[in-house]
Parts: sequence; structure tokens; C-alpha cells
Amino acid sequence: MHLFDHTIKPVLLYACEIWGTINTDSCIVKKDNYSLDMSFNNLPCDKLHLKALKYILGVNKKATNDAVLGETGRHPLYIDILRHSVKYYQRLSGPDCPHLLSLAFKESCQLHEHGKTSWMSSIYFVMDHMNLTNFCSENKNIPHIVKSRAINSFKSNWLNRMTVCGEQQVGKLRTYALVKNIFESEQYLHVIRDSNVRSCYTKFRISAHRLEIECGRYKNIPISERLCKMCNLGKTEDEIHFMLECPKYDTIRSIYLQQCADLCKNFATLNCKDQFIFLLSNENEKLIETTASYIWQCFNLRLQHLNNVN
Ligand SMILES: [Zn+2]
Repeated sequence: MHLFDHTIKPVLLYACEIWGTINTDSCIVKKDNYSLDMSFNNLPCDKLHLKALKYILGVNKKATNDAVLGETGRHPLYIDILRHSVKYYQRLSGPDCPHLLSLAFKESCQLHEHGKTSWMSSIYFVMDHMNLTNFCSENKNIPHIVKSRAINSFKSNWLNRMTVCGEQQVGKLRTYALVKNIFESEQYLHVIRDSNVRSCYTKFRISAHRLEIECGRYKNIPISERLCKMCNLGKTEDEIHFMLECPKYDTIRSIYLQQCADLCKNFATLNCKDQFIFLLSNENEKLIETTASYIWQCFNLRLQHLNNVN
């Protein structure tokens, strides 16, 4: 990610202060529930940013964008564009602005004042949207404030989407929403050294795996019929069944659960769902490594079984 930020991102955002404007004539900006990400939806540089994050995490391109951003704690690149644009505005309106640029800037201001849409319309729109209408153009903190407010707004919208998925238990993020309620980079990305184990764990957490609960989604099979093929319990093969219930993994699970019980006194008294939430949202490094290794072993056993059956 460091490499991306220092080699690819500067290329992607080259001259973004000019091209990264908001279309203030668009009907999107007039919507009651408008948020800045609506204006920057499907931005090519953000698509490439997500593609790079998915590559780094080792998940496929269909993995949910919200989960990928949530795991890495990365905000979309349009937020950097906003900061660059406001910073550029400050440069253009300052005394050191080159003559030709200054003329173009004044032209843009005049166009806006005469009711025409121009580059300045976008700047005014952003400042107005962030309650910075009366800002002083010389205040050096303004670009930072714009970025900070845009990030807060993005995080708030992201959290709302998580809350809806978690409460209603619908969509691809229903399980992820159970264990993720803070937008920040996950500790396990730094703790788990083995890239195969780490990407397997990421796939499991964000439901980018091949368990029946997900495979059935693409075939439009009702959830109650996405049954586990590893046992005869007649249960849906979702993440909780796979990790804590399915008898197929009893042998490796008994060793794993003993380790969990050693780390948490009340662990055995929790129900399966609470155990699942506890294990996947825990920040204990030892437990993270143990859990990721256990999930990795279970998926290998599952793959072995399916290969034997076929
Ligand atoms: Zn099962």
C-alpha cells in the first residue's frame, strides 16, 4: 500500500485539481440524500485503487468494495482530489499565481457569478457542502479540513451501510457487519505473515469464499437450501456453521477451541454467534494467528473432501 501511495497514486491523481470537478448541473447533487461519493461514483482512479487493494488482499474482483475498504481502512481517492482542488484554488487566488493562470481563474469566477457552470462552481459547491462557505482563502488549514470532513462523511455513510446489513442480516456483508463496526485497518493484515493464510482469512471474513452460502447466491438458491455438503445436519453452510458447528472439522476444532478457552475464561459459555463475533473481532495477536490458521486448515480439509467426492 505504501508502494501504491508513492508510485501509482501520484500518477492517477495527476492534474486532478483540474479534471476532478463536481458537475453542479447534475440532478444527483439536488437529491435530498446527496453525499459527495455520489458525484465521484465509478471514478476510474478509484476503480484502479480498489483493484490494487483486492490484489494486495488476495481476494477476487467480485469482493465487496465496502469490505475491502473496511479491512484496509482506506478511503476513496476522490477525497484526495477534493483536497488538491481546494489547495489549488488557494494557490490561484494568492498573490504568487502566474499571470495567465490568474486570468483564467478570474474568468472562471466571473462565469460562476453570471450563473454559468465553471471550475469555480465546483469549488464553491464543495465548500458550501462542508459548511465552509465563509472560509478565508488564505487559511492554510482549509484543504486539511476539507479532507478531514470528507473522510468523516464517508466513514459515517460506510457505518450506516454496515449497520443496515448487520441489523437486517441481508446482503453479502451480513456476516462481515457482525464483526466489523469501526472503519480502520485490521490488525491481522500486519500480524499474519503467511500470505496464503492471510488471504484465506480475509476471504472468510468478507464472504469472498466458496462456502455454499455464497455459491448459492449466484445460483439464486434460497438460503435455507444452501446446505452443507460436509455433514448430514441439513444446515446452511454459512460462516458460523463452517467455523463452529460442522462436525467435519471436529478434530481440528477441538484443539483450536481449547486454545480459545485458555485465552478467554467465559468462552465456553457463549453461544455460537457470540463466539464467532468474539473470535473474528478480537485483537489479541496470538488469537488472530490461531484463528486464521484454523480457518486455513478447515478450508484445506473441505477442498480435500470435495476433490475426493468429485
Ligand atoms: Zn456441515
